[in-house]
Amino acid sequence: MIVAIDGPAGSGKSTTARRVADRLGWLYLDTGAMYRAVGLAFREKGLPVTEAAATDLVPGLDVRLEPGSDGTRVALDGDDVTDRIRTPEASSDASRVSALAPVRAAMVALQRHVAREYVTAHADSGVVVEGRDIGTVVFPDAEVKFFLVADLDARASRRLVDLADGGPADASEALDTVRAELAARDLRDESRALAPLRAAPDAVTLDTTALTIDQQVEHVLDAVRRVRAPSAP
Ligand code: C5P
Repeated sequence: MIVAIDGPAGSGKSTTARRVADRLGWLYLDTGAMYRAVGLAFREKGLPVTEAAATDLVPGLDVRLEPGSDGTRVALDGDDVTDRIRTPEASSDASRVSALAPVRAAMVALQRHVAREYVTAHADSGVVVEGRDIGTVVFPDAEVKFFLVADLDARASRRLVDLADGGPADASEALDTVRAELAARDLRDESRALAPLRAAPDAVTLDTTALTIDQQVEHVLDAVRRVRAPSAP
C-alpha cells in the first residue's frame, strides 16, 4: 500500500508521515530530502540551475536515504549530507532544481524504485511517501492520499522551531524572514510547469493549523484502516 502525503512546507507532512510509518512498521520516504541532496550537488559544483547542467549532472549522482534512529540519513555520492540539506539556503536550492525536467525524471524513478523494492521484500507492508507531487504524479494510484495545509503564520512558526539555532537573534525578525521564505517557495512550487504543488482530485485535504500531531496521525491511520478493512464497522 502507498500512503501519499503532499502539501506545502511546514504543513506537518514530515512529522505526520514519519509517525504513521512508525506506527505501521512501514517505510517512510522523504522525497524532499532527495531534491535537497540534488540542490546541494548543484551548489557544491557551482553549476547553473539549467536543464543542460542537470542533464550532465543527474545521471552520475548517487542519492541514498537510510532510515536512522533520529530520522532519515541522506547520503550524496557516499557523503552523509543530512545536516547540510536542512538550511534555508538548501530549501531554496531544492525548490529551484526541482523544477528541472531531468531532475524530476530521475527522482521520480528513484522514488518508485525504492517503494517497489520495499513492498516486494516486505509482504503486507506499505510505504508512507511525503512530497509535493506524490498523489498527482509519482503514485497516482496510491490507496491513501492526503494533502496537508496550514496557515502561513502557523507554518512559519513551526519552521522557526525546526531552525531554532540558525535564524537571526530577534524572534519577530526571524519569523518575518521565515514567512517570506516559505511564501516564495510555495509560489515557486505551485507555479512551476512540471508536477506543481497541487492536491490530487482524490486526496483528502486536512488543515493542520489547529490540530495536534496526534490528531493528524490518527486521521491518516483511520484512512489506512478503512482501506485495509473496508467492511469493518
Ligand atoms: O519537503 P521539503 O521542504 O524537504 O522539499 C524541499 C523542496 O523540494 C520543495 O520546496 C520542492 O520544491 C521540492 N520537492 C518537490 N517534489 C517533491 C518533494 C519536494 O518538488 N515530491
